[in-house]
Amino acid sequence: MKLDLAEIARLFAERGDVAYAGEAVSQTEHALQCAWLAEQAGATDALVTAALLHDLGHLLIAEHQTLTRSPTELGIDDRHQYIALPLLRGAFDTDVREPIRLHVDAKRYLCATRADYFSRLSPDSVRSLALQGGPMDDEAARRFAALEWAADAVRLRLWDEEAKVEGLKTPPLAHFLTTAARVMLR
Ligand code: FE
Repeated sequence: MKLDLAEIARLFAERGDVAYAGEAVSQTEHALQCAWLAEQAGATDALVTAALLHDLGHLLIAEHQTLTRSPTELGIDDRHQYIALPLLRGAFDTDVREPIRLHVDAKRYLCATRADYFSRLSPDSVRSLALQGGPMDDEAARRFAALEWAADAVRLRLWDEEAKVEGLKTPPLAHFLTTAARVMLR
């Protein structure tokens, strides 16, 4: 199956209204806020699209629709950063896919390298951090920083942390799908 704009819209419409586990916003609100922060920061179309779709894995994991508690509270690392990748592969290039794939490692990297960062994590994000392997050690952080898409993944991660504001107004999904269309592979 090839992911297209209609399919992305359908996923958000049918599954995006669930709460972003442990947060004050829905999955769709979180995605729109993240993409909006990226756009306001002057990010490329590819990075805005990565911001919009970074948690698509959460929408694809069917069990998340019915869990009454966050996966982290059940001690589960859902590995959502990888789950959407097979779908994204035919639709977007590495400039969209790699920041998505690396956005969890970017959190582990930021915890290791920025003193103030950990305090910005939500309680759910702190719980998942432990399940995801905790802060990187020096060697892992050095290796991460050397990756081609590390800087974009870090920017995405910082917007990710901010994109949890209850009731914040953003442009609608259609606006960001127009952005995604510009970088979609054909
Ligand atoms: Fe997120």
